[in-house]
Formats: sequence, structure tokens, C-alpha cells
Amino acid sequence: MEFVNSADFATHLDEQDELKAFRNEFLIPQHQGKDMIYLCGNSLGLQPKAAQLEISRQLANWQNLAVEGWFQGSEPWLSYHQQLLPTLAGIMGAQPAEVTVMNSLTVNLHLLMVSFYKPEGKRFKILMEGGAFPSDQYAVKSQVKFHGYDPKDAVIEVIPCEGENTLRTEDIVAKIAQHADELALVLFSGINYYTGQFFDVQAITAGAHRAGAYAGFDLAHAAGNVPLQLNNWGADFAAWCSYKYMNSGPGGISGIFVHQKHHANKTFDRFAGWWGYRNDSRFKMAPGFEPETGAEGWQVSTSPILLMATHKAALDIVERAGGVTVLREKAIRLTAYLEFLIDDINREAGEELFKIITPRNAGERGSQLSIICKQNGKLFFDQLVKNGVLGDWREPDVIRLSPVPLYNTFTDVYRAARFLSDAVHHVSS
Ligand SMILES: *Cc1c(COP(=O)(O)O)cnc(C)c1O
Repeated sequence: MEFVNSADFATHLDEQDELKAFRNEFLIPQHQGKDMIYLCGNSLGLQPKAAQLEISRQLANWQNLAVEGWFQGSEPWLSYHQQLLPTLAGIMGAQPAEVTVMNSLTVNLHLLMVSFYKPEGKRFKILMEGGAFPSDQYAVKSQVKFHGYDPKDAVIEVIPCEGENTLRTEDIVAKIAQHADELALVLFSGINYYTGQFFDVQAITAGAHRAGAYAGFDLAHAAGNVPLQLNNWGADFAAWCSYKYMNSGPGGISGIFVHQKHHANKTFDRFAGWWGYRNDSRFKMAPGFEPETGAEGWQVSTSPILLMATHKAALDIVERAGGVTVLREKAIRLTAYLEFLIDDINREAGEELFKIITPRNAGERGSQLSIICKQNGKLFFDQLVKNGVLGDWREPDVIRLSPVPLYNTFTDVYRAARFLSDAVHHVSS
């Protein structure tokens, strides 16, 4: 599509947008009496209006049914999470039995590594992307230490080539092959939080399996952002949070995926708890752990119903919008429009003031552009904030902007870029 740098053109795109009605299902934060231009959905998605209603319904059940709420009412809490699984499975490209919701993300990475990181003999290493989200680095390093290894020996990080910001798939796959007989696990993010690079999950999975290692993914920035095919791609496990592109609230419940090829194996090591016990006989409270088949067998503790209620409200919207593939079409155009406008600022300035480090190819990124500011980065960011544009600042010089198809408009993107352009004049005068 040919883009035009004008407010009218942005309005025109908004009028044609088939998802435009969904913005009204979210509470948009206010700035000086007007809607904020919120481009931070990669960090915390906005609140669906229905979240309050779903929570109120469960508070009413608690009030009226108290402990009987586990078994009674229109949505008994015992099986409450199961209502979420079909939509979640669609988002992940999974069978419903391959996914469940539980705990929070880093906790789930630990629990899944208990099952899928089984160092033995020479095969004790974990390969991951360099510059992974800090929590993932801490989790991985503490896991290898827990098994008695030194992270310096046991963690292999793949870093970009000299002068590049993102990884090449062939380099990731080659690095896996190079260490084939030493790897126990390949653990990658789906989308890197810093650069916004969408990795080739299928190629990384295939590479890990050729090496004889398990392939696991942290999908924090991919879930609800890009279409996924975890079942087809053959990933062994994955975990994600629900509060970024899935709009399910701060600290919202996490989800996990365990591929069906592992479901028959009841002897998988796992840190068990009663909520992972067979659904049909959990309340016999018998000694000896018998896991439920599928991802639910990794559950540990009692369902946090109030967190699940906000997740339900948010997933309902994705479902009604037609799923992630529908969101993705708009996301690609929103992100491309933002890219076009930022390139325009550079063109006008006659130099690359803002260097986009996120891949230029739409297939290798989600709804995010990470922009290195050549100079005065924090000043530009502060100017944006002053004008009601909220992105996300990463030291020392990166602004991340994430236009989210469910609630952002092309006009949001246009105005954000316009304020950035104004800031260039403001800062340089
Ligand atoms: C957001 C994010 C996290 C956060 O983990 P929590 O346990 O939910 O705090 C972890 N890893 C990645 C890659 C993330 O993007």
C-alpha cells in the first residue's frame, strides 16, 4: 500500500478499518482531557471494559455461593479455566488439551524447565538468544546452577553479527548444530522484547530436534500479537504472560503449552501439586500423584479465579474480532505506517535521527518498532509524553512504540509521529 503522511489519509484508513469498533471496548487513559495515544501495549495492554463486569460476577458468586462456588453457579470455579482454553488454543495454534492457564510467566518457565531441562553427561547446555529478557536470563542461569553447573559453561547465547542488531535464522540454526551433542534445551523468545524481532519458531524447533534437544519458547511478546502454530511447528513447550498483547491486567495469569506428543508420558518429572491431579478424582485426595492428561497436568495450585475473570473478558474480545490472524492484518499495516512516518522524519532531517532496529520485513516482527535515537533520546521521549504519547523508554537510547490493532488507530500512529517530528524541531532549536 502507498502511504501518505497526512491526517486525512490516517482518518481514511481508520474509516476503512474493520476492527475500529473494538477500540470502544477498552478504557483509554486520559491526558489533559483527551484520549492518550497509548503505544505501550507490548508492556501492559489496556483494560477491557468487560473486565470489571467479569470480576464483579465472580465477586457476586463468592458473596452468594461462597465455597459452593467451586461446584455451583453458571460457571463453577473448578472448571472456570476450561472456558478460556479454546480461544487460547486458537491464539497459540494448539489443541485445547495442549494449553492451560496458571501462575505467572517466570514461575512457569521454571516449572517447565523442571520437566524439559534434563542435563545428562555431556548434554547439559541451554542455548538461548543473547539479550533475552532479564527474567529469562536469571531463570535459566539459576536452573543450570541448581543442577550443579556453572552458567559460564552451561548457557550458550546467540548474539547478532558485528554491526547488526538482530539475529539471522541461519546463524541460530548453525549455532545449534555446532553444539548439537552438548545441548539439553534450546530456549528462545518468540519475539525479542528489545528489538521486536519475531524469530522463526519452526526453524529453531527443527534445529533443536535435529540436535537431540528440546525446544521451548517464551512467548510473552508473541502471544496475541502474531499468529502461532505451536502444534504444527512441534515446539515441546512454551509459556507466556497475558498482560501484554492479551490485555488481561497487571500481573495477569500466565499460560503454558505442552505438545501433545508428551501427554502420554506420565513419568515426566514435574513439580506437582493437587491442581495438576486428574480432574475426575482430585477430590478423593488420595496419596500418590496422578497427573491430568495434557497441559493441565502441570497445574500446581488452586485457580486464581479473579485473574482468570479479566483474562476471560480480554480473550472474548479476541474471539469476537475473529482471532489473531484478523488482528495481524491490521497490525502489519499500523506498524508499516508508523515505519513510513518515522522514515519520513529522517528523510526530512537529511540524516537518520531515528534508527529502526526492528526488522524491516513484516514477517519478522510483530506490532512494535524499536527506535534508536541518534542523540537526545530521552528528550524526545519526554516530549512525546508531554503530548500524551506513551511509548516505552529503554536506556540508553531506545524508544519502543507498539501500535495495537484492537485499540490503536492510524490517527494515533500519525499523531505520535507528528509529535516526534515536532520534537525534532523543538529539541534542535
Ligand atoms: C514480560 C516478560 C516477562 C515477565 O515475566 P513475569 O514472570 O510475568 O514477570 C518474562 N519474559 C519475557 C520475555 C517477557 O517479555
